Amino acid sequence: MSDLANAAIADALDELGDLYELDGAVIHRVLAYHKAAKTIRDAPVSVAALARAGTLTTLPGIGATLAAKIHDLLERGEIPAATKLRERYPTGLLAITALPGLGPKRARRLFDELGVDSPAALRAAADAQQIRSLKGFGAKGEAAILVALAAGGAERPRRRVVLDRALGAAERIVAALREIEPQAQIELAGSVRRRADSVKDLDIVVDNATLLDALGGLESIETASKASASAARGRTHTGMTVELRAVTPDQFGNLLQHLTGSNAHNAALRERAVRTGLHLSEYGVLDDATGVTHHCASEAEVYALAGLAYIPAELRENRGELEAAAAGTLPKLIELSDLRGDLHAHTTASDGHGSIEEMALAARAQGLDYLAITDHSATHGFGDDVSPDQLRRQIELVHEADARIGGIRLLAGSEVNILPDGSPDYEDSLLAELDWVIASVHTSFGLGREEMTERMCRATSHPLIDAIGHPTGRLIERRLPYELDMDALIAACAATGTMLEINSNPDRRDLNEIHARAAAAAGAGILVNSDAHSTERLLGLRYGVWTARRAWLTAADVANTLPWTALAAQSKRARSGT
Ligand SMILES: [Zn+2]
Ligand SMILES: [Zn+2]
Repeated sequence: MSDLANAAIADALDELGDLYELDGAVIHRVLAYHKAAKTIRDAPVSVAALARAGTLTTLPGIGATLAAKIHDLLERGEIPAATKLRERYPTGLLAITALPGLGPKRARRLFDELGVDSPAALRAAADAQQIRSLKGFGAKGEAAILVALAAGGAERPRRRVVLDRALGAAERIVAALREIEPQAQIELAGSVRRRADSVKDLDIVVDNATLLDALGGLESIETASKASASAARGRTHTGMTVELRAVTPDQFGNLLQHLTGSNAHNAALRERAVRTGLHLSEYGVLDDATGVTHHCASEAEVYALAGLAYIPAELRENRGELEAAAAGTLPKLIELSDLRGDLHAHTTASDGHGSIEEMALAARAQGLDYLAITDHSATHGFGDDVSPDQLRRQIELVHEADARIGGIRLLAGSEVNILPDGSPDYEDSLLAELDWVIASVHTSFGLGREEMTERMCRATSHPLIDAIGHPTGRLIERRLPYELDMDALIAACAATGTMLEINSNPDRRDLNEIHARAAAAAGAGILVNSDAHSTERLLGLRYGVWTARRAWLTAADVANTLPWTALAAQSKRARSGT
């Protein structure tokens, strides 16, 4: 059996799904192939190795039929069903299906009705204005096709990986290396260590060079090779590059500091040091005056030589941290253990997977003292909305669970929608029955900057809206924030006492670190909430805390580090007496 990479197996299944769709197969069959491709692309272990062991069906969504096709691919180098379909449809047609906005169904219509069978034929048809007359395309669709073709068509740019997936891969590697050499120092470096939103590749520093040879043997590594006596490079089954660097223990701090970056931080640090006659590199700190190179076992020694306090990795972006470290004014950053409560969580009443009780117990197990149950409101629009009557019932259920479950305070809340005119989608009388209301935008993202800003600022002026959830709607690497004047929203929040959320969902982290820092500076209240839709997602609070740390926030800057009674006493409801 051949040893195909996970990505290659996933590509073959995606192609087969596209071919089936071109062929008019029922949609759930098509989706099964794309879902399986995604499972395989994200699998942390070698899928070819699973096939050899006969355990492919342990992967979610891989049944006997799919397993047989993967076996065919590994044994014969092809999937017969794909080969047969490929004979029926020209390869150029598959290239067209990959164009943004097209897909197999529309590609098939271009093929059937205009004979378009390649990107070149597609361009010719668009240039001749033949596409606009097809039903469902129009002049707009034709123009979009020309734009897609001009943008280089089917080539997908290599994306950065969102932190939680990158960190998961990195932590698996570190754990496996630690098992091999329990005594070794093994540290993550690079943007993973700085807890950036997304990551290009993984950097790991070790103080034991024998680990370089071990990299290729790890379960999560697809291929690896030694680049030099002190470096190895590999690739995970999910396609991330891993750089493993070895250094002697006395220089560990120098290399770790160097590889943690950021580039901007390191450049500014080197410049600062040069002014005092010091040359910083990954190997040591050279003193011009004496000609001596200092080796540093820890990063703190590197910073101390440069006359600076230790700078936490999350701050190393050259946003004023060097100046603060020199002046001794670095903030004492918030920690996960500072959070006392979570004011945004979902249950099965809307689109969550846990019951009130399950979410409560999970929050209590994490050491939280209070949890607001904030299911989606009446117009959420995905079929998981909560009608006013259901919300009244939910309030009773939350209060009942609160009385029954000890060790955690449960608050009856809602995540209401901010309608395009800025109003919430429940009556005020119903909102007044709740302990807590967070308001978010889930519809009409394309309003335009002025209207969107007006919409959200109006929401902050509502006396019963306590906080704004995921304020920009961004999804990291997937969806841009909507157009919004964030300075105006921050000012409105500060003026009305409405709090702004740092949503901890690793795909959101919204507010981002820049806006969170500006909000704190403007005196707006800030929350770090999980927006958990399942008990496991409560663990995601650490991503929000990391964003808060990257925003220079202390525990005092984040309102839900307070006990609920203290937070409630200073909330806008308490102040306005509503
Ligand atoms: Zn939401
Ligand atoms: Zn939510």
